[in-house]
Amino acid sequence: MAKVSLENVTKRFDSTVAIDDVSIDIADGEVMGIVGPSGCGKTTALRLVAGFETATDGTIRYDDEDVTPVPPENRNVGLVFQSYALFNNMSVLGNVTFGPKMHGVGKAERRERARELLELLDIEELADRDPQTLSGGQQQRVGLARALAIEPRILLLDEPMTGLDAKLKQTLRQELGQLLDDLGVTTLYVTHDQEQAMSMCDRIAVMNDGHLEQIGTPAEIYEEPANEFVAGFIGTANLLDATVTDGRISFGFGDVDAPDGLRSSGDVTVLVRPDDIRVGNGEGDAAVEVTNLFYQGEHIQATGTLADGQELTLQLDRSLTNVETGDTLSVGFDPETLHVIRSTK
Ligand code: ATP
Repeated sequence: MAKVSLENVTKRFDSTVAIDDVSIDIADGEVMGIVGPSGCGKTTALRLVAGFETATDGTIRYDDEDVTPVPPENRNVGLVFQSYALFNNMSVLGNVTFGPKMHGVGKAERRERARELLELLDIEELADRDPQTLSGGQQQRVGLARALAIEPRILLLDEPMTGLDAKLKQTLRQELGQLLDDLGVTTLYVTHDQEQAMSMCDRIAVMNDGHLEQIGTPAEIYEEPANEFVAGFIGTANLLDATVTDGRISFGFGDVDAPDGLRSSGDVTVLVRPDDIRVGNGEGDAAVEVTNLFYQGEHIQATGTLADGQELTLQLDRSLTNVETGDTLSVGFDPETLHVIRSTK
């Protein structure tokens, strides 16, 4: 395993700047996620780390070694892609022993290594099967075993759950997260699915249009987003216009206390997560007229309009099934749940 760093890396394709001066340090054994919308540069970042692309500027290091000019076959990376690209003319065991064989590992050792990995991933009974006969989840595990069999310095996962059904994704997310933890393998995990990244990664890099917007633990990114983009990309966000003066936040619909220690003043954007808003039928900080209700099983998501016309998304308890569109609800804000972001307007 290795620590991996991108230092001021830029990648241009003709006039497109796919990655713009990005620096990310991945600690030895850390699972780092890269998330962001389509085209933000996630896959390019991963391909640069793997060596399939060469940086236009900047340096990529494994430990202290500058690998920027090193071709992929000499970097010893384990790769799991969207389609697992398993070799269909080989058994599962053949797939897992292939990499070590190419690296000159002897037959007995590579078979033992493969058996150990299949056991670890709980698929030892699939050793003799043809990959085409496996379910998506089973193929994913074989893909992972194959990537790990070369004892990679870094494991690179690019949307490894695409195409799996929602329930399986949820199960695999937990299993894979646990497994990566247990293995202690340095991992770069690329996904557009922020929920997967939140539940599986030690830290997450949020990218937008080639730029790194923020890097932090899932809790930091969720609770203290650096800007409106991150706030809106991770989870559901209410971003409300307001003004801060003398420890109070003034919204168009009323005033509330500012969180303790708030340093900003003047025009700001305030982030408040739907699940942090108190909802009731009586007293509150503001009134919201419900415009839409979405039943989501575990709770009900409601959108509504505040007195100043701003929209607010709420999370209602399932017991509030009698709420209808057109109803007015009172909402309360706890100062400590209000996160003030510098206004960009
Ligand atoms: P997605 O989630 O859709 O896979 P992504 O975040 O992985 O997107 P990239 O594939 O890294 O995004 O692409 C980033 C930008 O670089 C895009 O504008 C893309 O069109 C461009 N790009 C990527 N590869 C090439 C290439 N080989 N030649 C030209 N432009 C490219």
